Amino acid sequence: MQSDILPTGIEVSNSDQILEIDWSDGHHSEYSLFGLRKNCPCVMCRGGHGNMNTFDRSLFFVEPTQHFEVEDIKQIGNHAIKIFWNDGHNNGMYQWDTLRDMCPCKECYPEQE
Ligand SMILES: [Zn+2]
Ligand SMILES: [Zn+2]
Repeated sequence: MQSDILPTGIEVSNSDQILEIDWSDGHHSEYSLFGLRKNCPCVMCRGGHGNMNTFDRSLFFVEPTQHFEVEDIKQIGNHAIKIFWNDGHNNGMYQWDTLRDMCPCKECYPEQE
């Protein structure tokens, strides 16, 4: 848990297929939209309540089999964002902690290839 670390900026680029977050501790995260969509934290996408807050970071490195775009992002309280996807899905509440834990950069995810 790193709940004292907050995003200071969130930027999405549908043309580059990435979402970038700058964090209050100076860290910078870049997520592929495909990986984010596939790691949608909602109950339906996780396949049950027991799997909440699980994710698969390798999804940020696979060749996307689907093109996803972000239509809107809404902040939920001061702990999460809701992402509105162009496939109509918007159930996922991406909590800061989860997003930070998901960060696929080399520092956070040294196992990456
Ligand atoms: Zn979902
Ligand atoms: Zn990182």
